[in-house]
Amino acid sequence: MISEEIRQVRIIDIRPITHDTRQFRFAIPTDRDFNFMPGDFIKVFPDPGDILEYRPYTPTSTPDMKDHFELIIKRYGLGPTSRFMHERKVGDEVWVSGPHEGGHFAEGMAKQVGMLAGGTGITPMISIIRTILSRGMDVSISLIFGNKTVDDIILKEEFDSYVEKYANFKRYYTLSKAAPDGWTMGTGRITQEMMRQHLPAPSDETLIFLCGPPMMQIELLKKLSELGYDKRKIIIP
Ligand SMILES: Cc1cc2nc3c(=O)[nH]c(=O)nc-3n(C[C@H](O)[C@H](O)[C@H](O)COP(=O)(O)OP(=O)(O)OC[C@H]3O[C@@H](n4cnc5c(N)ncnc54)[C@H](O)[C@@H]3O)c2cc1C
Repeated sequence: MISEEIRQVRIIDIRPITHDTRQFRFAIPTDRDFNFMPGDFIKVFPDPGDILEYRPYTPTSTPDMKDHFELIIKRYGLGPTSRFMHERKVGDEVWVSGPHEGGHFAEGMAKQVGMLAGGTGITPMISIIRTILSRGMDVSISLIFGNKTVDDIILKEEFDSYVEKYANFKRYYTLSKAAPDGWTMGTGRITQEMMRQHLPAPSDETLIFLCGPPMMQIELLKKLSELGYDKRKIIIP
């Protein structure tokens, strides 16, 4: 597929993920390739007449799904593109371009992958996690996932089930607003202590993915640097 070409893709399934996020599944026509690496992104154009107005979204499905790809999109009250997507129905077509190269993961890049995600910053991590686990790669994954409340945690059940199923997957959630009774994981924002405890130690074989709101990224980049992680080993998809 020519990545800059803008074309229509049909929505074949929509399902709620959390109270303000939905998963959209799009069909990949049989005569077209949709080759991407986990962490790459596509562009959504709500108005095909205005090619300057688009927003990027990271497929959460794996590249191994050849007949469809999925996006998880959060709705913002004032956001034209997220609102446009949340108003779509199954069968509607949406103008997209891509896949475009983002900060992605490929086998051989690292033996240990640490992930720091805030809110919808989890989307690139989802495809990377699913790809590493489903392909049985010899790579350990340690995810720290910050959210406001437990109801905001995207795909919590799936991540929890991976802990039972895969020895090479760990996850640690932290909640900045309200933690439910009996909550045993983190509270507040992601701290350096959480990173020290839950991320793989800095090494040539360690790669850190970081994705979230801009201020979080700036703050955590500084903390990672203080902990001794080499900037060249930190990927912001
Ligand atoms: C590489 C990349 C990949 C992305 N992948 C995804 C993805 O998979 N899923 C997804 O849901 N989003 C993703 N985003 C964000 C997405 O591209 C849009 O920025 C988002 O959907 C808002 O677009 P909009 O047109 O609805 O609103 P905009 O016009 O961009 O924003 C309108 C208002 O919405 C609010 N808002 C927008 N973004 C944020 C934010 N991050 N935090 C707090 N308030 C905000 C603000 O009030 C803002 O003024 C990604 C961004 C990048 C750069």
